[in-house]
Amino acid sequence: MSRTIRQVCVYCASSAITPEKYLLAVDVLAKALVDNHVKVVYGGGGTGLMGRLADKVLEFGGEITGIMPNFMKEVEWAHKQVKQFHFVADMHERKKRFLEGTDALIALPGGSGTLEELLEAITWKRLGLFPHPIIIFNQDGFYDPLLAQLALCETEKFMSANHKNMWTVVTRAEDILSAAQNAAVWEMELKDAKVQ
Ligand code: AMP
Repeated sequence: MSRTIRQVCVYCASSAITPEKYLLAVDVLAKALVDNHVKVVYGGGGTGLMGRLADKVLEFGGEITGIMPNFMKEVEWAHKQVKQFHFVADMHERKKRFLEGTDALIALPGGSGTLEELLEAITWKRLGLFPHPIIIFNQDGFYDPLLAQLALCETEKFMSANHKNMWTVVTRAEDILSAAQNAAVWEMELKDAKVQ
């Protein structure tokens, strides 16, 4: 049975010099989200995939909220056209706020910030603190090394086989929203976080 997705949080790159194919995929995602009346929460940046996501959501008439620590506001990293902003004390509060009211998380390609946010969300899900779908957009194999690392964690018994049910991998931007809508319910309990 398909679940209702009203709000998503998108983790993605701030780099302004990535290949254009990544920006074009963001456009596809932004259109799908707006067409389906899904609100977007993101890091509030004005550059890279972050900036493009906000540009396109606004262009298509959707709703987007930035959540940004004060120190980034001070250096003027905030997207100028995004009207809805929550400025928070620090990075920890920001990551917590990303998950509040969010029905699904989407990780697009990105750098250390995106990887950190994605792995933290997976860890929270493992601990039963965040039950919602986590969608990894593996554009052109971008996430293959991370997925291989997670598979190695399972092979070497640092994680269990069930843990890979925490995330869904998609390879086409047009499949991201439907993957979130159709993701399996995560029913594991805190005790299942342990590998034994
Ligand atoms: P990355 O994937 O390494 O580009 O990191 C994206 C994340 O890094 C964001 O969610 C922020 O935590 C942080 N970040 C780095 N640069 C910026 C920026 N120019 N604007 C907003 N957030 C940024």
